Amino acid sequence: MSTRIASDLSPAAPQPMVAGEKTTTEMFLVKLFAVVPALALAAAVPLAWGWGLGWVDLGLAAFFYTLTCLGVTIGFHRYFTHGAFKATRGLRIALAVTGSMAMQGPIIGWVADHRRHHAYADREGDPHSPWLFGTSARALAKGFWHAHLGWLFQREQTNAARFTPDLLADADIQRVNRWFPALTVVTLLAPALAGGLITWSWWGAATGFFWAGLVRVAVLHHVTWSVNSICHLIGDRPFTARDKSANFWPLAILSMGESWHNSHHADPTCARHGVRRGQVDVSARLIRVFEKLGWATGVRWPRPERLARNLKTTAP
Ligand SMILES: [Zn+2]
Ligand SMILES: [Zn+2]
Repeated sequence: MSTRIASDLSPAAPQPMVAGEKTTTEMFLVKLFAVVPALALAAAVPLAWGWGLGWVDLGLAAFFYTLTCLGVTIGFHRYFTHGAFKATRGLRIALAVTGSMAMQGPIIGWVADHRRHHAYADREGDPHSPWLFGTSARALAKGFWHAHLGWLFQREQTNAARFTPDLLADADIQRVNRWFPALTVVTLLAPALAGGLITWSWWGAATGFFWAGLVRVAVLHHVTWSVNSICHLIGDRPFTARDKSANFWPLAILSMGESWHNSHHADPTCARHGVRRGQVDVSARLIRVFEKLGWATGVRWPRPERLARNLKTTAP
């Protein structure tokens, strides 16, 4: 049974799927920003034993992780990609800014890639499916790498005119899209500034930059990429979806609800991904708070009849 998918948002006109290529400079920056935080993460473990990590660093890292993760999950993903609710202008801009601070690329490219992912999920054309190379162990190992990180190093760019005409027509979003380089500087230097001011020391600024800047960005990168790789490979598939998406509970907290990925692919515009009892979904909780405050309206909460229709009749 088919379900409504995100590509319904884009016009039916036969536009090309990809348009243009990243420049050599852009390719270099993608690699730099994907690799340097990961190196910081690898260096972090030996550093943590003994010196260089304090409560201020942990607190700042948790704060910036939560802020930017929710910017991606509620903002880039549930709101901008899938239109799971309507937002006031202030909330719309705040979500675009905090999502951009996750250092996962400018908003328009992110949303275009993700709408393309849903339109072609686990088929030819999906920018990051782990199933594109076959089903042997070797092919899946290659697929895992491609879905997790390798796809970012491809030169082709998703055609924004085809997948995100709504964002291209929005002056506020165009502006935030152009601010991406500045927001990258902000997301790395704000923790350094906060750490320096709280501890009133250059050392506090340095460890704040390292832990709440670089390491925090790397951890969130790998959590987000795990939804693309692990959550299309391993887990439960209680709902009917046209792809290999799966619910992977161990990532529910860190991904703030995004690892209930089979439920999400079965009903992409739904504001809550952890739709069943006990499936923790922090992003959905916060959308509820926004709704209570009057900032979010027309929220698409799960409907029992839709859930029942999408549920597989036989246990997975
Ligand atoms: Zn997916
Ligand atoms: Zn999605």
